[in-house]
Amino acid sequence: MAEHESLEFGKADFVLMDNVCMEDFMANLKLRFEKGRIYSYIGEVVVSVNPYRAMNIYGRDAVEQYRNRELYERPPHLFAIADAAYKAMKRRNKDTCIVISGESGAGKTEASKYIMQYIAAITNPNQRAEVERVKNMLLKSNCVLEAFGNAKTNRNDNSSRFGKYMDINFDFKGDPIGGHISNYLLEKSRVIFQQDGERSFHSFYQLLRGGPESLLRSLHIQKDPKAYAYIKVGGQVKSSINDGADFKAVADAMKVIGFTSEETLTAYKILATTLHLGNLTFGVDGDVILIQNPKVVSVIGELLSTPEDNVEKALLFRTVATGRDVIDKQHTAQEAGYGRDALAKAMYERLFCWIVGRINDVIEVKNYDARVHGKNTVIGVLDIYGFEIFQNNSFEQFCINYCNEKLQQLFIQLVLKQEQEEYQREGIPWKHIDYFNNQIIVDLVEQQHKGIFSVLDEACMNVGKVTDEVFLQGLNGKLAKHVHYTSRKVGRNRNLLEISYFTETGPYSVVGFIDKNKDTLFQDFKRLLYNSSNPVFKAMWPEGKLRITEVTKRPLTAATLFKNSMISLVENLACKEPYYVRCIKPNDVKSPLLFEQERCRHQVEYLGLLENVRVRRAGFAYRQTYPRFLQRYKMISEFTWPNHDLPSDREAVKRLLQGCGFDHDVAYGKTKVFVRTPRTLFSLEAQRADM
Ligand code: ADP
Ligand code: MG
Repeated sequence: MAEHESLEFGKADFVLMDNVCMEDFMANLKLRFEKGRIYSYIGEVVVSVNPYRAMNIYGRDAVEQYRNRELYERPPHLFAIADAAYKAMKRRNKDTCIVISGESGAGKTEASKYIMQYIAAITNPNQRAEVERVKNMLLKSNCVLEAFGNAKTNRNDNSSRFGKYMDINFDFKGDPIGGHISNYLLEKSRVIFQQDGERSFHSFYQLLRGGPESLLRSLHIQKDPKAYAYIKVGGQVKSSINDGADFKAVADAMKVIGFTSEETLTAYKILATTLHLGNLTFGVDGDVILIQNPKVVSVIGELLSTPEDNVEKALLFRTVATGRDVIDKQHTAQEAGYGRDALAKAMYERLFCWIVGRINDVIEVKNYDARVHGKNTVIGVLDIYGFEIFQNNSFEQFCINYCNEKLQQLFIQLVLKQEQEEYQREGIPWKHIDYFNNQIIVDLVEQQHKGIFSVLDEACMNVGKVTDEVFLQGLNGKLAKHVHYTSRKVGRNRNLLEISYFTETGPYSVVGFIDKNKDTLFQDFKRLLYNSSNPVFKAMWPEGKLRITEVTKRPLTAATLFKNSMISLVENLACKEPYYVRCIKPNDVKSPLLFEQERCRHQVEYLGLLENVRVRRAGFAYRQTYPRFLQRYKMISEFTWPNHDLPSDREAVKRLLQGCGFDHDVAYGKTKVFVRTPRTLFSLEAQRADM
């Protein structure tokens, strides 16, 4: 018996459960995890449990096992879904996408890498040089992005602190010819601050531990992270990460991708500048603000290729236009500190976006002529931060959770609506399934005028003193009656806004919402960097070109930018054929042995997996057009082999299935046959194999 049919490992597809309930679902998930079966299906959705140990299931032989097979023919695997997405794209010329979700540490990024590795392994049999180059770039880009965008957190030693969506473009032969990466909301606050036990982005420690002496000397930095205020906390964290070796790997990858040595050096200069900035302190002497460690300023000037005086001025003063006059307004020490931190965060964020942009320059499809080569199709892979609620939650969690609600909404629409519509089209009766529709929560956040983001933007627009409390009052005014919204005061001055999600309540401290949403970076800094004689800085800060009197438009707020990027992401995904990977984290101690029941149940709940099974069972596991179905199975029936003489393919399929005794498990649509359970399909496959 094939492995996927053996009950020793539990049920490979949750759709086959005898009884759809949470208890049985969890028992099956646990059994499979304990037997080392980390992947399962819900129909075509892959459920993955992080094994926290090296699994010997991703090698060349595994690739061969899944290549060009149907999903249900082999035990559940990421490779199967990658292959399904690839086949759909290649056979039917359809753009597809693979959406990977789950909480931090659940295994999303690893999954996305295995998927890419699989696609790279099965394509380009003719070893075309250009295709090899593109594949190599796509794989190498991960290493660079992780260095600058990942960090050690308490949940994951290599946690992605940004969302990533990568399109891989294929030519008519099905070989990858390019790609494009979009990144979402880098957690830049990490540049200046980390929780106990966490680190800043890997790039800093890599530079300090792996950078050659001469490089460090030229950057005026020393090896010990404790010397730098911004990464002092993280510098004490012990970890298994080998920063020194990683530095070299990243430098090599950057070289392969095509970063010039000047560009790579500028990246290091930005890291060094950030570290130096963090050590700057401000004081006042009478009415005059001053920098207490001016030597650092001169170092920063040197690294930014800009006169030291300009650096000092940008740190201490702000140019403001009052009517026709332009004056220099001196900061308070507090404002100067705020400006310094904002500069550090903005420089790092720009660096990250610039790196993504440079990678895109290199991997983007060039010289593809659709008239000659046919349609260029795409597989998108989305690896985005999962739903998270901590002890303390702020603007970042608010955005991340909104993003998850938005993706969940897409899932509901695509999986549910699509199914229903297809059944209708095919004339097959459909029983309505109850499902928590989270559109109401998405609206609560993003709706024009009434949504939380709008209220926040409005509060930020106010002149005069805008505080987080004013924002909260605004919310209470507009949303008091909303069933999913409340606000609460905890202790003397901790104000929370609360959203009740499907399975739990998310309390967010409103402190910092206004600042983080405005995300102010004084124009003086933009000008400073634009006027650098280093062309890379100039290119990173084009808006620094504007003179103060020319700056009239308010930059878009962080919330608006994020909302817009989410809307376009969802639009982009919605026009593709989706495949889903749902990742589950079995425990909080990174143990390969421990399956924490409660922890897992919670994830199964908010990922809506049980509903997913229900929908799938109410529906049909498999569907195929009549001619294609016959093509695959006609050899198992005397009525259809080698050809049938029935009036239609539909009749022939009917005859075939009746002959096998599966008539009760199928429905006959206008153009397709629908098979309710995968078991029937397994059995058809087995009969076919026995022929
Ligand atoms: P996420 O992106 O969801 O936050 P990661 O993909 O970074 O999580 O996974 C966290 C860690 O879990 C990895 O660094 C690795 O140690 C382990 N891990 C995840 N998936 C696998 C896997 N398939 N095999 C072995 N280890 C894994
Ligand atoms: Mg990740």
